Amino acid sequence: MHEIILNSHMHTRYSDGSGSHNDIAKAAIRAGLDAVIVTDHNVWVNELAGYYQEGDRKVLILVGEEIHDQTRVPQKNHLLVFGAGRELATYAYDPQLLIDAVNRAGGLAFIAHPANPAVPFQGEADISWVDWNVQGFTGLELWDFFSDFRDHLKTKLHGIYYAYFPHRIVRGPLPEAIRRWDGLLATGKKVVAIGGSDAHAYQMHLGPLRRTVFPYEFHFRAINNHVLLPSAPGMNAVTDTSMIMEAFRQGHCFIGYDLPAPTRGFSFTAHGLQRTVLMGDEIESKGGVTLTIRLPIRTECILLKDGKPLRVWHNHDLCTYITTEPGVYRVEAYIHYLGRRRGWIFSNPVYVR
Ligand SMILES: [Zn+2]
Ligand SMILES: [Zn+2]
Repeated sequence: MHEIILNSHMHTRYSDGSGSHNDIAKAAIRAGLDAVIVTDHNVWVNELAGYYQEGDRKVLILVGEEIHDQTRVPQKNHLLVFGAGRELATYAYDPQLLIDAVNRAGGLAFIAHPANPAVPFQGEADISWVDWNVQGFTGLELWDFFSDFRDHLKTKLHGIYYAYFPHRIVRGPLPEAIRRWDGLLATGKKVVAIGGSDAHAYQMHLGPLRRTVFPYEFHFRAINNHVLLPSAPGMNAVTDTSMIMEAFRQGHCFIGYDLPAPTRGFSFTAHGLQRTVLMGDEIESKGGVTLTIRLPIRTECILLKDGKPLRVWHNHDLCTYITTEPGVYRVEAYIHYLGRRRGWIFSNPVYVR
């Protein structure tokens, strides 16, 4: 498989971000990304999708959309739509109709920031997802930068501190998001987890000082999706986009927090009697299944079954486990960085049936 690094969920001047698609492409090339998915609020700006090149480096800009009902108070239920090939914001008033429309259009629907806490001192409401009865979505944004950030924002001083020390923010997916994901997986559904930046490159004014808080490039070195493709993408934006969308649909991806150490090279595979599968895939338990985890560096690795830790390895880079038990198996890896234990890798599950 060919691993690409893709950053998802960002805003440009077409909604509430401060940069252009071109700024994003430049930042992505500097950060060494292969692709990004721009998701402006309730507007699909498709004419700016495609490969952007600088020197001998290139990046694929995909354009999706973040859709929510702007008349709802508070404005909860944000849905990330990828690969639908058309504007769908007209369905924003009903999350289920919207998801159905995404599926009819052949796109992918991810619940954005499922747990997104309020910031009382700024008067910002909790904008978590609340309509949990919806069916047919592809997955959820398990780990997004801004939910993690908002969770630390107790006072304005915290906001200023973290604006200057963004490397200290990210800790891991919020426990409520993980609980939601495990709960959905327990119903027998396949639910793909992705990571997101929710990047805006906000302009902050502090007296005479003007500063871009969390520039795009900072995000592009932080919470990324590592997507496993059947072949290396070339220069054809259309075929590469559909290959990436298909890998997301299958859950052939993991979330890596690349700032403390690059997560490239992580793998989680399952070997059964007949075949070997990737994260995101199903495999028969009959005859036993060997789960193999490879980490790019030695660190703490947890194998979970049905949301509960099954085995913990400390300071390992190759971990194996043999099972005959059906269940949803996934991996979390943690790393020590800037004085605390932080989430590093969250895999998609292998579904042992
Ligand atoms: Zn949102
Ligand atoms: Zn957003």
